Amino acid sequence: MSADITKMRNIGISAHIDSGKTTLTERILFYCQKIHAIHEVRGKDGVGATMDSMELERERGITIASAATNVNWKGHDINIIDTPGHVDFTIEVERALRVLDGAVLVLCSVGGVQSQSITVDRQLKRYGVPRIAFVNKSDRTGANPYKVCDQLREKLNLNSVMMQVPIGLEEKLEGVIDLVRMKAIYFDGHDGESIRIEEIPEALKAEADERREMMLDAVSMFNEEIMEHMMEETEIPEELLHETIRKAVIAQDLVPVYLGSAYKNKGVQEMMDAVLRYLPAPPDVENKALDLDNDEAEVVLPSDRSKPPVALAFKLEDGQYGQLTYIRVYQGIVKKGSELINVRNGRKFKVGRLVRMHSNNMEDIVEAPAGDIVALFGIECASGDTFCSPDLNLSMTSMFVPNAVISLS
Ligand code: GDP
Repeated sequence: MSADITKMRNIGISAHIDSGKTTLTERILFYCQKIHAIHEVRGKDGVGATMDSMELERERGITIASAATNVNWKGHDINIIDTPGHVDFTIEVERALRVLDGAVLVLCSVGGVQSQSITVDRQLKRYGVPRIAFVNKSDRTGANPYKVCDQLREKLNLNSVMMQVPIGLEEKLEGVIDLVRMKAIYFDGHDGESIRIEEIPEALKAEADERREMMLDAVSMFNEEIMEHMMEETEIPEELLHETIRKAVIAQDLVPVYLGSAYKNKGVQEMMDAVLRYLPAPPDVENKALDLDNDEAEVVLPSDRSKPPVALAFKLEDGQYGQLTYIRVYQGIVKKGSELINVRNGRKFKVGRLVRMHSNNMEDIVEAPAGDIVALFGIECASGDTFCSPDLNLSMTSMFVPNAVISLS
């Protein structure tokens, strides 16, 4: 059985250096139960020192070793694609961005939008990647998620909107108020594993009401029914809100902002829920390619399993067991044992070992459908090559350049 692509997300975690991308990725792996033991990471600021440097290296190795890591969150397959946080716009960054369908923009609650965040965001815009934002380090002195949300508007020209109100801030950060559900969510325990949902505390009611109003003002621009509910002061169905936000995010007209502290294990799970709710699944994204043999005519690559396969090799990696080629499948199904052709040089090859990379192991699979990100073993190719079925007319597909164009399905 190949994966259900409506329950798949291909995301990048984009951030400037030091905003906590590595820590956040580790937490995601932890909550997705890929890493079973969480360690406090020794901070550059000297906080938390339960992990020695060897362990730290190993643990970090797990997170950042693969170009794409598959995790499961609430019945969904999430491929986390490593998006190098380079300031320079390199071909490597470009390829990683090309295979993403969505991104989490990570910012520091104290530092806010910095010059590197501007670069990262510009890259996401160039590739039309829909995003949500996570204001990390909200446990630090001077944390101000609202200010960061405003900076996203002012400095990055994003239609950002706070989806949460912090319960306590800085070292007193306990949880968040979810402005859709209008509930207080507390992250308890050292690992933040248990989540307690309660009524909004009295002292925060006015702030929550005011922030919900702001959120609804932003969201209602995309849906008249919500506007009518607001005018008539009738209850807005949660599903209607979610669906409206999702469409606006996919159209890149809205950036919902979440807050928390990866380091203190707070807010990560809520942000992951937002990934499932608002970032697109592969069929929500229309991918187009340019046919360079035909005046760069646009060719649509539907995430349709019945079509002949087309895939892009976006990263080569020397692994323990030989060279791995990471591919994103754009159309059809890539099957183990089937024949593909490298359109750059016309060479045919057989798909040998096909694997899905997890943080700590790899899983042999027999097929990968359109939308999926997997790796092939032992293929001679270059990064950026396109593979397709020999049944496709070579002149038509020669040098396919997948070029993600977002549109709603
Ligand atoms: P990256 O460079 O973006 O991958 O950032 P790291 O994950 O390496 O984190 C940079 C520093 O910030 C490290 O010292 C982390 O321990 C620290 N850090 C990460 N997340 C948080 C957070 O939520 N709160 C605080 N206080 N520190 C954090």
